[in-house]
Amino acid sequence: MISIKGLDKWYNSLHVLRDINLQVDEGEVVVLIGASGSGKSTLLRCLNRLERADRGEIHILGREINQTDKDLDQLRQQVGMVFQHFHLFPHMTVIENVIEAPIHVKKMNRRAAERLATELLQKVGLADKMHSYPHSLSGGQKQRVAIARALAMQPRVMLFDEPTSALDPELVGEVLSVMKELAQDGMTMVVVTHEMGFAREVADKVVYMDEGRIIEQGTPEQIFGAPQEERTQRFVSQIY
Ligand code: ATP
Ligand code: MG
Repeated sequence: MISIKGLDKWYNSLHVLRDINLQVDEGEVVVLIGASGSGKSTLLRCLNRLERADRGEIHILGREINQTDKDLDQLRQQVGMVFQHFHLFPHMTVIENVIEAPIHVKKMNRRAAERLATELLQKVGLADKMHSYPHSLSGGQKQRVAIARALAMQPRVMLFDEPTSALDPELVGEVLSVMKELAQDGMTMVVVTHEMGFAREVADKVVYMDEGRIIEQGTPEQIFGAPQEERTQRFVSQIY
């Protein structure tokens, strides 16, 4: 589904992605871990072309997306993204937030969009908040709205960049459990997170990055239980 080959990126003289090669299969959950500044967000942002890598190829659903600027709108419909901060529209109710893009970008008719949004809000446990405004929601609720809003575009892949990092500890679980359900439904997901419990339980593949490079990738058992590289061992021992 996603195939990344020989990806390099610089910010001026800063070499932030170095020869990244990574495969994400349909239905797989890949978790990116690594120290601050190791390039996790940059890599994620290259996957929906919020950033462009200077060298290398990214194929998503069979289409090369790094070398061309064609069809970026279509790409962003297929690849949904959820950020640390939720970026909800403050002047719109929850359901209006969710139907906005399907109606205006996908040209879905309002009734169909509302039906879909209602379904998605039920799925993330917020059916009763449909007509509330974002300011009246908790951080965990806002993030679940953001997830429903991304899903409303019916993407084929979902990217998550530290979706729980801005939340109070007691609100982290409700967001992770929505993500876990999504994974169980078969969604292809690439997730940057510090939640190692989630990585252990939900990831098919864990990718450890350091200084712009993928140092090691494998199953959670391999990466957390028996890391091969010294840098991975050091990182893993720090988080436990
Ligand atoms: P964190 O865990 O702190 O979110 P990260 O692994 O996501 O870190 P990135 O945000 O991808 O790391 O950053 C990788 C490197 O690129 C860092 O050194 C960062 O300072 C630098 N960087 C990121 N965005 C830009 C930018 N727009 N311009 C210049 N440098 C940038
Ligand atoms: Mg980041």
